Amino acid sequence: MREEVERIREVIVIGAGLAGLSAGIYLGRARRDVLLIDAHRSMARWEPDVQNYLGFPEGISGKELLERGHRQTLRYDADWVEDEIEKINGEKGSFRVQGHKDSYSAKRVLLATGIFHIPPNIPCVRDCMGISMFFCKDCDGYRVQGKRIAVVGNTNEAAEYALGLLMYSSLVVLATNGERARWDEQHESWLCEYGISVLRQKITEVHHREGNLVGLEVEGKKSFAIDALFTTRGDLFNKSLAQELGAKVDSQGAICVDEQLQTSVPGLYAAGCVTAANCQMIVAAGQGAIAAQSINRDLFEESLKNHNLSIADFPTEQHAKQS
Ligand SMILES: Cc1cc2nc3c(=O)[nH]c(=O)nc-3n(C[C@H](O)[C@H](O)[C@H](O)COP(=O)(O)OP(=O)(O)OC[C@H]3O[C@@H](n4cnc5c(N)ncnc54)[C@H](O)[C@@H]3O)c2cc1C
Repeated sequence: MREEVERIREVIVIGAGLAGLSAGIYLGRARRDVLLIDAHRSMARWEPDVQNYLGFPEGISGKELLERGHRQTLRYDADWVEDEIEKINGEKGSFRVQGHKDSYSAKRVLLATGIFHIPPNIPCVRDCMGISMFFCKDCDGYRVQGKRIAVVGNTNEAAEYALGLLMYSSLVVLATNGERARWDEQHESWLCEYGISVLRQKITEVHHREGNLVGLEVEGKKSFAIDALFTTRGDLFNKSLAQELGAKVDSQGAICVDEQLQTSVPGLYAAGCVTAANCQMIVAAGQGAIAAQSINRDLFEESLKNHNLSIADFPTEQHAKQS
């Protein structure tokens, strides 16, 4: 325990989902002393068949993608710890990261802590998550083509989701789940124009086979056949570590970052779904790469200023031949 807190890492990455893994690979390859700390709750685990990630034409499960990313970071000597971080103190150059199991120190910290998509308030619907219950039209619309789709929500956003899903199926219903419809007149008129029916009763049960939805039951014991359900209840951003350090968050709860993905706290960076970036795996991985390159540059510039640039101690080819 003491050994870890006394070792000042160049970079600590908190969260090893898509963004953190990608940052770990880049920082390892930049020969930085990097530690990844993760609580193993990446949202990617919930997706059994990722179809929109470049390079996997047959698809890949989210778990397998994480496992491959983990192995790739090890190849470049990134260190790993399984821990839940509870607090960060300090400032650029000397951050102290307090975990449930141990404490850690680093000159720079990258937050890649992700978000939590709020599931709909319907009993047992979580059994269908990633199989027939989805949060993201852009990730999952393609796989529900021609199916009977219910969109749960009562806002303009929900109405637009239902309208957007018409691109994939003509059988789309909007379910307010017993809530008062809050979409405006413009959205109401679009729903009418495109013939989207609205189901206003509370949903009391979902019927599914091994996660594959077959129907919804609403108050009054009425059943409706459906194959897929999308929800628009929103997201909880895992931002408290940043906020406690004084970093700015936007009105939705995303951590604010600049083009280098630095937060408003110098030396503290954020990448992936915890920022306002579109919450997709490939975007999170891209952001992890950008943040890692910014951190590497930041450390490099600091070394130049302080006249302590690291110089590789490998034998040169010339020396290797002679020895
Ligand atoms: C059901 C479902 C299906 C999806 N399907 C797709 C899809 O098909 N295609 C697609 O592109 N996207 C999909 N997504 C979205 C995708 O999972 C996210 O875009 C991606 O995981 C975001 O990566 P991230 O690194 O930002 O966050 P995550 O992958 O969620 O990783 C965050 C990591 O931070 C860790 N963490 C958080 N707080 C702490 C802490 N305090 N201490 C230590 N560790 C911490 C967590 O344990 C987690 O491992 C899906 C999401 C869900 C829920």
